[in-house]
Order: sequence, then C-alpha cells, then structure tokens
Amino acid sequence: MSYDSKLWHPFAQMGAVRHGELVIERGEGVFVFDEDGNRYLDATASLWYANIGHGRREIAEAVAAQMQKIEAYSAFGDFATRPGLDLAERLTDLAPMPSRLFLTSGGGDSVDTATKLARRYWFEVGQPDRTLVVSRTAGYHGTHGYGTALGGIEANRVGFGPQVESAQVAWDSVDALRDRIGELGADRVAAFFVEPVIGAGGVYPPPDGYIQGVAEVCREAGVLLVVDSVICGFGRLGTWYGIERFDVVPDMITFAKGVTSGYLPLGGVIVSDEIAEPFFRAPDSPMFRHGATYAGHAACCAAAMANLDILEKEGLVARGRELEGALMDAFEPLASSPVVSEVRGGTGLLAAVGIDAAAVPDMGTAVAQVVKQARAEGVLVRGLGAGVAVSPPLTAEPEHLQMAADAIGAGLAVLAEQRSNVASS
Ligand code: PLP
Repeated sequence: MSYDSKLWHPFAQMGAVRHGELVIERGEGVFVFDEDGNRYLDATASLWYANIGHGRREIAEAVAAQMQKIEAYSAFGDFATRPGLDLAERLTDLAPMPSRLFLTSGGGDSVDTATKLARRYWFEVGQPDRTLVVSRTAGYHGTHGYGTALGGIEANRVGFGPQVESAQVAWDSVDALRDRIGELGADRVAAFFVEPVIGAGGVYPPPDGYIQGVAEVCREAGVLLVVDSVICGFGRLGTWYGIERFDVVPDMITFAKGVTSGYLPLGGVIVSDEIAEPFFRAPDSPMFRHGATYAGHAACCAAAMANLDILEKEGLVARGRELEGALMDAFEPLASSPVVSEVRGGTGLLAAVGIDAAAVPDMGTAVAQVVKQARAEGVLVRGLGAGVAVSPPLTAEPEHLQMAADAIGAGLAVLAEQRSNVASS
C-alpha cells in the first residue's frame, strides 16, 4: 500500500498531501534540509517568521536554561515569571506609544484578543454599541473566530456559515473606509484592522499616504486603529513593529512570528495606555476576562528575549528596509515574462510575482507548477492566490535574493513554454 500520512496539515489538499510530504529535518541560516539531505533556500522564512534564520544555538541555549529553572507557569491573576515581565518591559519600550503588553499563543490569538479588547474597551467607556470591526479586502488576520470574519481572502470564509458581524472595505482606498464608517455609523464601529503591508493576501504594499489617511479617518471617527503586524513586525519592514515608517501611532499592535523568529510559538498585543487605562485605573477596575493558558509561557518568552538580542546585536531589524531595493532589483526583471501580470513589493523584505491568468493555459495549476519548479531548483517559495511570494530571512544576502528570483524565473519559463506550445498547436 502506498504511504498514507496520519497528519492533517493546515491549508492543505489532504487528498494529495496524504501520499507524500516534504519532510524538513534541519536548518542552518537561510537554508533547510530535507530527510534525504537535499538543501533548499528558505525564501519564505518558513511562514514569514524565521527572521534570524534557522538553527541558532543561542535560542536553544536560552530556552534550555529557562526550562531548567521552570518551563512555564500561569500568568493568570497575579502570577508571573521573570521572562514574561522582562519581555513586557522590552517590547513596550520598543513600541511607538506608551503601552502595556498582553501575551498570546500566536497571531490569530492576538487578533481575537485585540478585537475583544476593543469591544470591551468601548463597553467600559460607555459606548457599548461600538461592536463592529472593519477590515480590508485581501487582508489576512488568522483563522480564529474574529480573524476568519475579518479576513479578506474570500476562499478562507467559504463553508463556515455565518461569521461574526464585521465589514470590509477596499484594501487601497481611504475614501472607502471613510464612507463605510459613515454608512455603518461611527458610534457602532469599534476598530479598524490594517496590515502595514498585506502579506498572506498576496503582498500588497499600501498606496502612498494610505496608512496615514486611514489613521486620520479613524481618529476623526473615534474608531480604534489596530495594526496587524504579525508579518510586518520585527524587521520585515525594517522597523520593530512595521508601522513606524508610516509615522502613525496606533491604539493596538498585534504581533507574533518574528518576535521569536518561530523558535517557539508566541504572540501578543501592544495596547496603548489609553485603551488599557479603564482596566488598570484602580484595584477594583474591571478585569479583561480573556487569556490563553500559555499566555506568558516562560520558555517562549525566553526564546523571544534571545531572539531580540540577536536582532539587535546583528542589526537585523534595519535589514528589512536595507534589502528591499536588492529584492526588487532581483525580482523586477521577472515582470518581462509573458505569463507575469505584475511584480509587487518594494516596502520591506517581501515580494510577490503575479501570474497572468489570461496568459497561461491552465491557471488552476499554474501557481503550483511555479512552486514545484522552484523547489526542483532548490528554493522554497509560497503560492498565494494568483502568484508566488517570498519573504526571506533577514540574514539573507543579495545572492540569496537572486537565487530566489532565478528559481521563480525557471518556474515561469515552464509556464511560458506551455503557453507557446498551446499557441503553436
Ligand atoms: N495576522 C496576520 C497579518 C498574519 O499574517 C497571520 C498569519 O500569517 C495571522 C494574523 C495569524 O497568525 P497565526 O497563524 O500565528 O495564528
């Protein structure tokens, strides 16, 4: 009988994947190796998170040292562990606004936390009708309850029945947000969620002035601005939280991924002092009745502290911006392929190559073919909707960016050849 996996993979067509997986065994810097010893350039930093690259001993040692003291302990009520407290000091110091830190288990967990906190904040300040959350087309905010409702990738919402009440606006229009808030009634809107650069929805940097524009609309309407920096944080855009380069001060920032570079799972929400105030004011102030078992997990926080040390010591945060030009230099020539619709990027170390559906014989398989060919060339890239994306570790060198572009170029050449075969037959 052929191989039949027992592992149900997220976001996978299991009918195919059950019969074969790419089993990654180890990693070293920007490269990973499968169980047969084949080497691949990790051009996506796994799922947008391996910002410092793979296999760093410093993190393993920091986690081991913490585990020898205590692996984890509850953070509910007045319990704490030192790594959780240290991380809160450090991350709020780095934040663009005076703030507190609420820790979670990952990105989707952070999005749901921020949504509930926005709603509970409005309840506490006497505006309980502000319950709606607004998000953008093509946005991605994870797969928890609120995040699924907020998500702008239609396929991710199909078949789950009614979602939490929310509204969506065109990803690139400040006016669309202003008009929609007007239609809904500002006094019903709790928060607007925005990714500084849309990641999983296909890599869409914001139009010039967009982030500043929506921040202004939110300010005027009294709507909380929640910046979802799960992908954009910790150097991906060249700053700590991805939002600083737009000179905007949000009410909350959700993060995960790069905070530990994925060495252990961790996420969180930076909450401005203003939003935290009703809960911190007095000993009998209301409790935010929310939080996951592993919030503030000591070993995960120790991994984050060691990761932040590396990001700081090696100047990696700035590299997200320093390398954005080199990434586009490598990728822009791909736009001349007859099967490419556009190359997107230029803000941070992430880019996508769109496939032109009208130019390929079978769009149903086109993206997968490019990913497959790139893999055969020894480079892991990500299929996203009608394109392929890259987001290399911040430790990548220009030669690695070129390797990624060349591998995608080889995939595009396969499609271009199919196109010319169809045309000539
Ligand atoms: N928000 C954004 C912007 C993301 O890109 C992601 C994941 O890619 C999430 C939230 C969800 O994070 P997680 O998969 O850790 O739940």
